[in-house]
Amino acid sequence: MAVQHGEKIMLCSDLDRTLIPNGFQPESPDARPFLRRLAQRPELILVYATGRDTGLIAEALKTWDLPLPHIAVGDVGTAIYTVAGTLDKPQFDPWQDWQEAIAADWNGRNGRDLLKMLSDFKVLRLQAEEKQKAFKLSFYTDVGLDLEGLAGKMKAALLENGIRASIVASIDEMADVGLVDVLPERATKVHAIYYIIQKYSIDASRVVYAGDSGNDLPALTSGLNAVLVRNASEDVCRQAIDMASQKGHEFALYLAEGGFMGMNGNYAAGVLEGLAHFMPAVRHWL
Ligand SMILES: [Mg+2]
Repeated sequence: MAVQHGEKIMLCSDLDRTLIPNGFQPESPDARPFLRRLAQRPELILVYATGRDTGLIAEALKTWDLPLPHIAVGDVGTAIYTVAGTLDKPQFDPWQDWQEAIAADWNGRNGRDLLKMLSDFKVLRLQAEEKQKAFKLSFYTDVGLDLEGLAGKMKAALLENGIRASIVASIDEMADVGLVDVLPERATKVHAIYYIIQKYSIDASRVVYAGDSGNDLPALTSGLNAVLVRNASEDVCRQAIDMASQKGHEFALYLAEGGFMGMNGNYAAGVLEGLAHFMPAVRHWL
């Protein structure tokens, strides 16, 4: 049966420690089988939004047997791809219009130029070359720093040089290290999601975003229907609740608590729990 336009639902989900169970907490065995069943529904548009590049997205699909998405937002929002092909051989077709839209924020400068502008920030350690992308400059820091304060200072230093940047900071709890990404101001995951929503003419009320960590916070508190998986750290939970209520969006944020379909609310189970909270029809699809 043909699906009417208005019936579409868009699920946008982070990968690591959101759909991928690569954290400390256990995964419910039914979680990813349910996710794969859900992905077969013609009503569902599946979008992955991740810090991974295309190679690492492809690896994740295979390793964790995740359903092939329709669209992938890669490199923390700086690239959008239409995804085709198969799980074994996914093809990623980049959206050039998105690259052009975000390039203006860096005023024709590249990551190397920005690195010089940030040379006074001794707490930043440049990540390996393969982590640096056309519009993503990535650093490590020690954990326990005031990441928000650091991000503010970096943003100001770049602005003095005519660069409009978003600084996305989060903690990799598995590796016990801070991650700081410098992106064009409009190139975060949440900007990319809104760009996709517009391009596909999806009603924003039909979109659900799922995430677990710092780089998901803008999307989780943007007013889109959002779900924080249960395995998220207490810190991220607290920040998400604070940011959402400051913006008056507390009712659009759902914290997975477990119990849905007998699952524990971690990872994909939490994503499905949140999706069903906002879109009750999903319960019957599983
Ligand atoms: Mg994550």
